[in-house]
Amino acid sequence: MAFEGYEEDYEARIVSSMETDADRQGGADLRPKVLDEYVGQEDAKEQLRVYIEAAKMRGDVLDHVLLYGPPGLGKTTLAYIMANELNTNIRITSGPAIDKAGDLVALLTNLSDGDILFIDEIHRLNKSVEEILYPAMEDFEIDLIIGKGPSARSLRMTLPRFTLVGATTRAGQLSQPLRDRFRIPLKLELYTPAELSSIVNRSAGILGIGVDPSGSLEIASRSRGTPRIANRLLKSVRDYTQVQGKSVIDRDSANYALEKLGIDKLGLDNIDRRMMETIIKVYNGGPVGLDTLAATVGEESITLEDVYEPYLMQIGFLQRTPRGRCVTRLAYEHLGIPFTADSKAASTKQMSLFNELMENKDVDR
Ligand code: ADP
Repeated sequence: MAFEGYEEDYEARIVSSMETDADRQGGADLRPKVLDEYVGQEDAKEQLRVYIEAAKMRGDVLDHVLLYGPPGLGKTTLAYIMANELNTNIRITSGPAIDKAGDLVALLTNLSDGDILFIDEIHRLNKSVEEILYPAMEDFEIDLIIGKGPSARSLRMTLPRFTLVGATTRAGQLSQPLRDRFRIPLKLELYTPAELSSIVNRSAGILGIGVDPSGSLEIASRSRGTPRIANRLLKSVRDYTQVQGKSVIDRDSANYALEKLGIDKLGLDNIDRRMMETIIKVYNGGPVGLDTLAATVGEESITLEDVYEPYLMQIGFLQRTPRGRCVTRLAYEHLGIPFTADSKAASTKQMSLFNELMENKDVDR
């Protein structure tokens, strides 16, 4: 069963954490430039501060950094900040953009000493490309094969000393040899409403719109723990507020705009609600396998996992069990669906699956 027309909804979705063209354009640059402006992620920031300072004191390059966490949490922003703090250049690319080994060799040989090479979606590098990275990361060297057949010979080439910053939404998909070569693995977490509120305040200042504390908190609490969504909602709320002839966003104007956009108090939209309703009505609350669920809502499994689920799990609406996804009692309550004896039985089953999961930690993805 698929919801007709869903694909379009997904693309147009305002609470998607994936980057859109509108995020990239839109005039003012909302990215913080230095660590002190980067809100939240105190753990990651603290570690980076130390490593950056140490690298500067040694007069050496920063060790390779792996940033992982859901989309829109500030991985690319952190890479730019590192370059800024270290006063070096940054080259930006992504796993799927590096097709052939030669593409990576060209990138690496064009770097200068101290440069940062940022590879987004690094889990999507193909094997032959990835293997070039091993000696490049470890010894700043690559082996080039010159010629073909019996006369082919291998030539070792020294590279500039560089820092690789890899970003991924799924660290588990990185091969062990690649993961081992990152000395600094940093996990980014979803942001709290208070942190998002201060991001909204900062962005409002850059965009030149007033926002009072109740307005920024209203936007923050509907942003699914994700700065990219907070900034996007802020821009939409600004438009509604200005059309209403107001110059300051307050709780009422934020509420009004967000309701018009179909985003509820927790930041869920129609698609989230229909996805959870499907699990409840068609699968009696779950468990339902990821692929089945994805087919049901007309989305790819990988998008469900990376984009939708982290927040639904964080707010306790969804659980991953070895046998699939389950909706919790909290979700029933939020959706206004009675939690009956049947659902209770399903929920008990879910709890035992959950416990099983905690014991063997062997999840189906
Ligand atoms: P990712 O690379 O993880 O998908 P980005 O670095 O592109 O995420 O961040 C998305 C947007 O969110 C950025 O344009 C930036 O304006 C904003 N942002 C992310 N993290 C922060 C933060 N800690 N403080 C302020 N703004 C942030």
